[in-house]
Amino acid sequence: MIPMVDLKTQYHRLKPEIDQALAEVLESCAFVLGPNVQAFEKEAAAYLGVKHAIGCASGTDALHLALRAAGIGEGDEVITSAFTFIATAEAIRYVGARPVFVDIDPDSFNLRPELVERAITARTRAIMPVHLFGQPCDMAGLQAVADRHGLKIIEDCAQSFGASIGGKQTGSFGVAAGFSFFPSKNLGCYGDGGLVATDSDELAQQIKVLRNHGSEVRYYHDVVGYNSRLDEMQAAVLRVKLRHIEEFNAGRRRAAHRYSELLAELPLQAAKEDGIGAHVYHQYTLLSDRRDDILQALASAGIACAVYYPVPLHRQKVFLADCAGVDLPVTEDIARRCLSLPMFPELSDEQIERVVDVIRGVFRG
Ligand SMILES: *Cc1c(COP(=O)(O)O)cnc(C)c1O
Repeated sequence: MIPMVDLKTQYHRLKPEIDQALAEVLESCAFVLGPNVQAFEKEAAAYLGVKHAIGCASGTDALHLALRAAGIGEGDEVITSAFTFIATAEAIRYVGARPVFVDIDPDSFNLRPELVERAITARTRAIMPVHLFGQPCDMAGLQAVADRHGLKIIEDCAQSFGASIGGKQTGSFGVAAGFSFFPSKNLGCYGDGGLVATDSDELAQQIKVLRNHGSEVRYYHDVVGYNSRLDEMQAAVLRVKLRHIEEFNAGRRRAAHRYSELLAELPLQAAKEDGIGAHVYHQYTLLSDRRDDILQALASAGIACAVYYPVPLHRQKVFLADCAGVDLPVTEDIARRCLSLPMFPELSDEQIERVVDVIRGVFRG
C-alpha cells in the first residue's frame, strides 16, 4: 500500500515538536488571533520575502480576500487557467467578477503570457496565475503583459509554497498572493488554513479588517467583512513545519527526479521542468495515452494515484454558461492524459521503484 500523501509518517517524525506546540496553545487558552498567528505571520513573511503575511481560514478565502482588497468586483474580468482546482475560479466569482479561461503550456501546464495578452478586453482587471503542481509560472512574461495593459496580478500559490524564480519566492511577484495550508499542501496544517502575502501596507490593512468582521477596533465595524481567521492551533503547527519546509521540498524534488529518471525509458511524458524557476512538486504529474490503464494497474497493486484534474473548469457545469465558445485544446488534451503519482517528502526509493515497476508492467503487457 503506497498512499498519495503520507501525513502520518511526517507527524511521527515531528511529533515531539508538534505535540509541545499544541499543548502550549491548549494551556494558554488563546485560540483565535493570538501570539502564534502573529509570530507565524512574521516568520512566513520573512520566508516569502514580502512585507506582510495575513493568516486566514483557507486558501480559497485568501484568494477571495486578496481579490476583494485589490478592488476587483462586479463586471470585471480576471484571466486565469482552466486547468486548476475549482477554488481559483470560485474566488473570482465571489467578488462578482468573471473568470476568463485561457489555454496553457503543454509541458508546464501553466499560463502562457502571449495567450493571456490575446484574451484581454476592456473589462479585464487582473491576471490570476496558478503555479500548478508547484512549478512557478513565467512571472516576467506575465508581469510585462500586466504592465502593458494596467492589470493587477494576484497569484494562486496554493500548490507552490517554497517555489521560487531566481531566488525570489512565488507569492512575492503579484500585488497579492493566496496560499493554502490544507493538510496535503507542501506546507500543510491539521485542518483548514490560508494566508495572503503582499508588499502593500494598504492591502494588508484591508485584508486584516476583512478577515475579522470588517473590524479594526473591536465592536466597531466599517465594512461588511468575514469570519476568516487562521486559528492558533493551526498557526502553532505551521510554525513547526515552516522550520522544515526546505527539507520537505528537497525531499519532494529528490523523489520527483528519481521518478523522472526511471520513467525516462517508458513511452510516456514524465513531469517536465521548464527551467523558469525551482519546482517544488506539490504533485508529480505525467502524461500518457494509456492513462486509464496505468490508473487501473496502480489501483490493483495497492498504489494510490489521482487525476488532477479530470474536468477543466470551462467544462464544469457551474461555469458552462460563462464559457460558451471557449475552446482550450491543450487543456482538454492534458485533462484526458494526466495522472499524478504518490508524492510526499518521505517517499522512499523503494516505493518509487515499486510504482514505476507497476507502470512498466502496463507497457509490457
Ligand atoms: C488547494 C487549492 C486552493 C484552495 O485552498 P483551500 O485551502 O483548500 O481553500 C486554491 N487553488 C489551488 C490551485 C489549490 O490547489
